[in-house]
Amino acid sequence: MKTTKKFLLPDQEIPTAWYNVLADMPPLQPMLNPATKEPVKPSDLEPLFAKGLIEQEFSTERWIPIPEEVRTLYKIYRPTPLVRASGLEKALDTPARIYFKNESVSPVGSHKLNTALPQAYYNKIEGVKNLATETGAGQWGSALSIACSHFGLNTEVFMVRLSYDQKPYRKVVMQTYGAKVIPSPSNLTKAGQKFLAEKPHTNGSLGMAISEACERAVTTPDTRYTLGSVLNMVMLHQTIIGLEAERQFEMAGDYPDTIIGCFGGGSNFGGISLPFLRHQLAGKAGFDFIAAESSGCPKLTKGTFRYDHGDTAGMTPLIPMYTLGCEYEPAAIHAGGLRYHGAGAIMSQLLKDKIIRAVAIDQDECFKVGILFSRCEGIIPAPESTHAIAATVREALKAKEEGREKVILFNLSGHGLLDLSAYESFLNGKL
Ligand SMILES: *Cc1c(COP(=O)(O)O)cnc(C)c1O
Repeated sequence: MKTTKKFLLPDQEIPTAWYNVLADMPPLQPMLNPATKEPVKPSDLEPLFAKGLIEQEFSTERWIPIPEEVRTLYKIYRPTPLVRASGLEKALDTPARIYFKNESVSPVGSHKLNTALPQAYYNKIEGVKNLATETGAGQWGSALSIACSHFGLNTEVFMVRLSYDQKPYRKVVMQTYGAKVIPSPSNLTKAGQKFLAEKPHTNGSLGMAISEACERAVTTPDTRYTLGSVLNMVMLHQTIIGLEAERQFEMAGDYPDTIIGCFGGGSNFGGISLPFLRHQLAGKAGFDFIAAESSGCPKLTKGTFRYDHGDTAGMTPLIPMYTLGCEYEPAAIHAGGLRYHGAGAIMSQLLKDKIIRAVAIDQDECFKVGILFSRCEGIIPAPESTHAIAATVREALKAKEEGREKVILFNLSGHGLLDLSAYESFLNGKL
């Protein structure tokens, strides 16, 4: 078979603008101030975020130019390959054609650097000196650490206790890039002290770590907060994934009808799907957009759509979203990036409007498929990404049952080389 394995774009074809879906959707319900319940004004967010990022959060411009400094740094690993998963197709004996966008080639092993670079950039040009953030599995913390090292900013990362213990090498990655890493909850913040007093042996959660990082940002001079998912501006930055993929499908002479991503807060799924979804919003039918979440943290399939906080202490604005409740403590699954109680506002609205759909998948099915993928495609996927692969396998097997051709695109959001303890547990039957 003369199948082209991968489709590569040259450096100069890195997109020059991000796609903003807010230009093509009815206005979202506004974020609300947690104290007054009034809509949040952009200036309310200035203690937390750089102004350039706040502007993007509220923008309804369809195309937002990518600053040249950011495009230059994107060249370190972008454009990422679009790969035909021919090995997986063969193993499944499916009539479906399967492609994946390989975001695992970034230096930190995931898509998170796509938004870490612009977030660090806008803070830098506004004179901010320090960034505070949280991290679950450590992917976001690593991405922000490398972005800060490029722009000469200090970083403080509050890392969810469970991941701090489960994934010790992520901590070393962050430290290598110069970040300070603190297990959360910690005694450094009032919020952390309160969580520890209530639950001394807690595994921590992203919600708690966000409270700590926000508190640090607003109580330390020259410091802002950054968030690696959920926000509109993060979805915006991540659209570079789908925009590149669309050009690569032109090279392949093919086009996807089924688009799949795993779902934590929605950024890698938004990144791969929104550039295609823009054609659906403009009237083109026939896409199936599938968000694959963990059944250990099923906000999309079991949560409710309502206003909720982004963090556990209730410091962040109220966001209209699918949520399990900001005090929810997810199961101790290995896919740390999927252990978040809520979903970003854009993706929540699209789910509510039935423009996208969601499936929840058990950890066991995900690791089985992760191992199959490693053996037929050569890449050990991040535990998060195995959810996208598992949803892909289900769709490919359905295509086989129905004797139907289908073109599936999924996002390989990251590799699992720093998650080998999870694979070890699975292989030893101790998951
Ligand atoms: C953070 C992360 C996720 C989940 O976050 P989203 O915002 O939903 O993309 C998924 N995969 C990997 C590899 C991650 O690092």
